[in-house]
Amino acid sequence: DDGPGVYTERILNILAEYGVKATFFVTNQFPNYQYLIKREYDDGHTVAIHTYTHEYSIYRSIDTYMNDLNSMNEIIKNQTGSYANLLRFPGGSSNTVSRNYAIGIMSALVSKVTEEGYTYFDWDITSGDASGYSSSQIYSTVVNSLGNGNKIILMHDIKYNTMSILSDILDYALSHGYTFEGLTSESRTAHFRVNN
Ligand code: ZN
Repeated sequence: DDGPGVYTERILNILAEYGVKATFFVTNQFPNYQYLIKREYDDGHTVAIHTYTHEYSIYRSIDTYMNDLNSMNEIIKNQTGSYANLLRFPGGSSNTVSRNYAIGIMSALVSKVTEEGYTYFDWDITSGDASGYSSSQIYSTVVNSLGNGNKIILMHDIKYNTMSILSDILDYALSHGYTFEGLTSESRTAHFRVNN
């Protein structure tokens, strides 16, 4: 989530080296890196919508949210040739920040995006990289949470620590028999209970 940004290209190089596919929930926080959305797509990763602005004020109304989403999806269309139909809400579907802008908005948005044909994803494992975890903390959090069955791991491609520890995480996971794939509209969504 949250890129493309300054570390995204190196992350793409690592993923290519390991032959691993990921899903990039993209933003326009760093417009100079927009071109990497095309590289993500060309490399066979899933490109999905996160948000254009990543401002929580998008949760003021259905219209403000959808305008932000549509702006991001236009950039995705320009970069990849097609619109994305997968998304992740900033903060996830159970975020409680949105209630500062509009009480009940997440319930309304979950219905709205589903009606419009989008599939939204939450996650099973949070790497902690958005909470200032060190590389070794990210590593132990992720590898100790892999367990059995398929899991969606939340990581942020704008974090230096994530980029620097990614190879070690992939070495561990691949040597323990795990495989990776990008999300599709058929994937398990790991939805949280909406809490607004
Ligand atoms: Zn985010």
